Amino acid sequence: QRQQLQALRFEPTVTTDGHQVELAGNIGGPADVDNVQENGGEGIGLFRSEFLYMNRNAAPTEEEQFQAYREVAERMAGKPVVIRTLDVGGDKEIPYLDLPKESNPFLGYRAIRVCLDTPELFKTQLRAILRASHYGHIKLMFPMISNVMEIRQAKQLLKAVQSELRDASIPFDEQMEIGIMVEIPASAVIADVLAQEVDFFSIGTNDLIQYTMACDRMNDRITHLYQPYHPAILRLVKMVVNGAHQHGKWVGMCGEMAGDLTAVPILLGLGLDEFSMSGGSILRVRQLIRDLSYERAQALADEALKQDSQQAVEELVAKWSSH
Ligand code: PEP
Ligand code: MG
Repeated sequence: QRQQLQALRFEPTVTTDGHQVELAGNIGGPADVDNVQENGGEGIGLFRSEFLYMNRNAAPTEEEQFQAYREVAERMAGKPVVIRTLDVGGDKEIPYLDLPKESNPFLGYRAIRVCLDTPELFKTQLRAILRASHYGHIKLMFPMISNVMEIRQAKQLLKAVQSELRDASIPFDEQMEIGIMVEIPASAVIADVLAQEVDFFSIGTNDLIQYTMACDRMNDRITHLYQPYHPAILRLVKMVVNGAHQHGKWVGMCGEMAGDLTAVPILLGLGLDEFSMSGGSILRVRQLIRDLSYERAQALADEALKQDSQQAVEELVAKWSSH
């Protein structure tokens, strides 16, 4: 079984009828790159940069960040590395940032909201990422985007940093793609609008499910309401994929759902272009997709969207898989 999976390490992720997708890995830092490569990851779909900021007494310097981003980019040797800018707040505390205690931290001051409000902190990170982009294939991604103004503000700050670098003759990738996480329902609903502002989307289902279901992802008493296969979630994913494709942009997913073997056939059928997950899940998902027909997956997705509940979707997939 393990050997069968290992044989797929350098194989493309392509369906029986020739539809290809990309399988990438999620990492928290350079130390996680090996695991993604050993498991045949075709890129890094989510580099959670906040891990560089955690468990220390002060923010990492531009140089420290640059070294970490550069190391990942170089070790991925031309394969794409999506670096997500700082996503603090919510469940991730960073003592030296002195963020206020809030009664609804997941609905509060976090991620891009903090970054746009503390531009010096943000620009340091943007400089480090831009500088590293010269050494590999880096893409930049903003978390927790809820409206078009946040994208424009973030891009404005990026532009300012780019022109500083140009003035200082510091090289960076002028073509670096800029994307956003779609993890707030409002953004999923206007995905066709947001697609015109960016090069790609990555769907963050961990948060998208929590916000859509009004269900705290950390609260053990309501896990039964945290429903990845709720038809509302599937319909939102469809809106995001269609919104992106309508404008010729690619769309990935980097939440846990992307590595969930029950969800994968539906997500494939909905037209997702990239799946990013923990390294350990990649080969199983590749094996599954290589046994599927895209045409049948599309038919499954159409049916799934019409179901009345998570339970009905699970039964549908089980029945579909056994045929
Ligand atoms: C997500 O929300 O799905 C996601 C990938 O980001 P995080 O889990 O870091 O919030
Ligand atoms: Mg998230």
